[in-house]
Amino acid sequence: MSRIAYVNGQYRPLRDASVNIEDRGYQFADGVYEVCEVRGGRIVDVPRHMARLQRSLRELRIAMPMSLAALTVVLHEVVARNHVHYGLVYLQITRGVARRDHVFPAPGVRPSLVVTARSLNFEKNQLSASRGIAVATVPENRWPRVDIKTVALLPNVLARQTAREQGAYEAWYVGADGFVTEGSASNAWIVTHAGVVVTRSAERGILAGVTRAVLINLLADLQIKLEERPFTPEEACGAAEAFVTAATQLVMPVVTIDGKPIGDGAPGPVARRLREEFHRFSEFS
Ligand code: PLP
Repeated sequence: MSRIAYVNGQYRPLRDASVNIEDRGYQFADGVYEVCEVRGGRIVDVPRHMARLQRSLRELRIAMPMSLAALTVVLHEVVARNHVHYGLVYLQITRGVARRDHVFPAPGVRPSLVVTARSLNFEKNQLSASRGIAVATVPENRWPRVDIKTVALLPNVLARQTAREQGAYEAWYVGADGFVTEGSASNAWIVTHAGVVVTRSAERGILAGVTRAVLINLLADLQIKLEERPFTPEEACGAAEAFVTAATQLVMPVVTIDGKPIGDGAPGPVARRLREEFHRFSEFS
């Protein structure tokens, strides 16, 4: 079965779906994106993802290509046309197509919109969670506006590749101050021996993860204490547990950092419970 993509008003087989070579996303990485989990054929936390999308667009002064309601219809349509039961839906908006020039194009240039969806292997993801993942630390290499979810992911690509070459699944960025900021495509968390869950404040230095926000609601409900503060790789190595969060990872236990085991080197009970109960505070549509 051929996958279907939405590209600027048309649903097309993936092999025929293309954007203009003068699209500013291609030329300058001048665009933003969102990734939502799809579960049971429904999209998870659309309003939260749309709110972050609108913020990213506002920060970059890119217009919404269509109304929020219309965009939501397109997301559902792409999920349905690709028969995704469990997987993800990806959307990308760029500043549009114009002759290559750094300065913003004339106001009439329409932003480009691409939406794709694909199935993921649920069992494989669960297996990863039951084993836990390895993390490698890397120096922070990104611009300061990491709060904007831009498609300019080259630093993240390099970080993830470095991690992979060290046998790790995810990279944790460490800032010049010695504190962990976040993962190359996830937020970073630890659990102290006192059972306190710790993650960096979303005010600066990280992307405000939707999964992070949902998890904070769950923590409150479970009366698990949360501290929003930075932590070092050394504190993480000595912690009871560590995990990462992202839309398609949910709560993914971390069992080693730079080859050193966390706790007893197996996924811990707090991360396991948070993963199991995660969707209690998600919104499905
Ligand atoms: N931080 C970065 C750099 C990311 O790329 C992502 C997701 O892709 C996240 C955090 C987690 O965000 P979310 O929970 O919204 O998927």
